[in-house]
Amino acid sequence: MLDAIDVEFQMFVDTKKASIAGPPYMGSRAVFAEALTARCGQAEQMSGNNREILARSNFIKGKIWQGHPEKLDFTYMYKALDLGYDEIQVRLRLGVKEEERGSKAKALEHFHRVIEVAGPDHPASARAAKFILDLRKQGVAEGPAERTVEERPAESWEYAEPALGPHAFDARVSLHVKLPNTEQSLVKAGIYGIGCVRCQGAHPIAPCENCGETSYRFGLSTEGVIGLFCARCRRGFTQHRCPECSAFSPISHETLVLKRDPPKAKSGGFFSRLFGS
Ligand SMILES: [Zn+2]
Ligand SMILES: [Zn+2]
Repeated sequence: MLDAIDVEFQMFVDTKKASIAGPPYMGSRAVFAEALTARCGQAEQMSGNNREILARSNFIKGKIWQGHPEKLDFTYMYKALDLGYDEIQVRLRLGVKEEERGSKAKALEHFHRVIEVAGPDHPASARAAKFILDLRKQGVAEGPAERTVEERPAESWEYAEPALGPHAFDARVSLHVKLPNTEQSLVKAGIYGIGCVRCQGAHPIAPCENCGETSYRFGLSTEGVIGLFCARCRRGFTQHRCPECSAFSPISHETLVLKRDPPKAKSGGFFSRLFGS
């Protein structure tokens, strides 16, 4: 039944583009929306308020009431989200809608969550990343980063190169893991940076957000993941969230970079070397 309603709604949208573009909820559209909503209600009842059906029904109602002056579409969409309807799809939609109505911080939250849930390779993440980038260009402030993630530094390097080859990287990690108090070969904030696995931007590592120290040692998280840990307070991170596209990058010989001078003749960033693109 919900399938039929969804299809019917889509047909209405396709054939009535002109009236939808006009003043909302006048005449036939309002009547149609009321009728479809009533049928969604029937479907919910018939299912005995089955959670999955409720979730999808609210998602459809959210689409049906898109642009309604009393924001019915938001009410239904957030219900669908609460009920666990396809989080990627719902949040992508909510992000766009929240941005439209000026709630940019909320929009950012939805887009970040899309990337978290969908993972870096999902097409939805690419879309969400693009929205985040646009919002950032508008200067929208970000919420606090997760604890396993390094605080975002503002600066971005145009050219960078791998700091250590694979063997040197492994050797440095082993040294720091074996001698957790060593002062040798510390990783300095501002000198070393992290490259992004998605957008290939490079950004300096920020000083420790907890104590302001600028030296880090390599170490392993409780799950055995390589991270950088503050040489003073030992707080650390195993992932770096890209300030440009929000993708998460691990700490590896591929992502640990040093700033480089612009190439003299040939153009092209360091990542042509790093990731071979
Ligand atoms: Zn990036
Ligand atoms: Zn610290």
